[in-house]
Amino acid sequence: MAEAKPRYKRVLLKLSGEAFGGNREWGIDSAVLRNVARQIKRVMESGVNVGIVVGGGNFMRGADAERDGMERATADYAGMVATLINALALQDTLEREGVITRTQSAINIQQIAEPYIRRRAIRHLEKGRAVIFACGTGNPYMTTDTAAALRAVEIGAEVVLKATNVDGIYSADPKKNKNAERFEKITHFEALNRRLEVMDSTAISLCLDNNIPIIVFNLQTPDAIERAAKGEPIGTIVSSGDKNG
Ligand code: UDP
Repeated sequence: MAEAKPRYKRVLLKLSGEAFGGNREWGIDSAVLRNVARQIKRVMESGVNVGIVVGGGNFMRGADAERDGMERATADYAGMVATLINALALQDTLEREGVITRTQSAINIQQIAEPYIRRRAIRHLEKGRAVIFACGTGNPYMTTDTAAALRAVEIGAEVVLKATNVDGIYSADPKKNKNAERFEKITHFEALNRRLEVMDSTAISLCLDNNIPIIVFNLQTPDAIERAAKGEPIGTIVSSGDKNG
């Protein structure tokens, strides 16, 4: 039987620091990374352009460091630098799987990564390269989810695929409330109004304003990235609620 055609031509994959950590409290789980890289490779082979925004929470989160007494903006810059470690690890793993990859950083660090240049990123994607976006937006007081929404708009991605460690968006915290229900679909507005923890409001607002759906799914579901990129029902889809959503 012929493979189903991919639904999207260009996707923005958000990989949180937790995703890199797998079951580890800190650092990178190389087995998880290999699995992620192989899925990205297959998605790209199906004709989909893939941009990837990496988080850094497996090493450093600005808000946590602030609670420990560090000045917030400095802590946030450290958090952004942490994303670069994940970006390099992902680039290395992708290249060992035979995927040509470029890393672009929102903070200049030219010995290691290209600077973020939107048109150049698009050109890489058109040439069939994976593009990893490191260092978030380059601004403190922001998150890599916001960076994912921003880069998605900038590169013309049709969807944000947010890989996390929960299998979608729930009406309440499923760890604390056994009656919590998982949504299959929810609108950007509902996600904003309910102040759901799954994504920050800046990121959701950007997607709302630019009509970009967000698919939230569990990375540990087998073939999760491939299924999400094909538009198969997985996790929760946050959309405008119209027929294109
Ligand atoms: N960060 C930032 N600006 C950005 C993106 C990230 O200041 O545009 C900092 C912030 O301190 C954040 C840390 O980098 O806590 C790591 O990113 P994030 O927490 O979004 O990673 P994830 O939760 O996806 O692992």
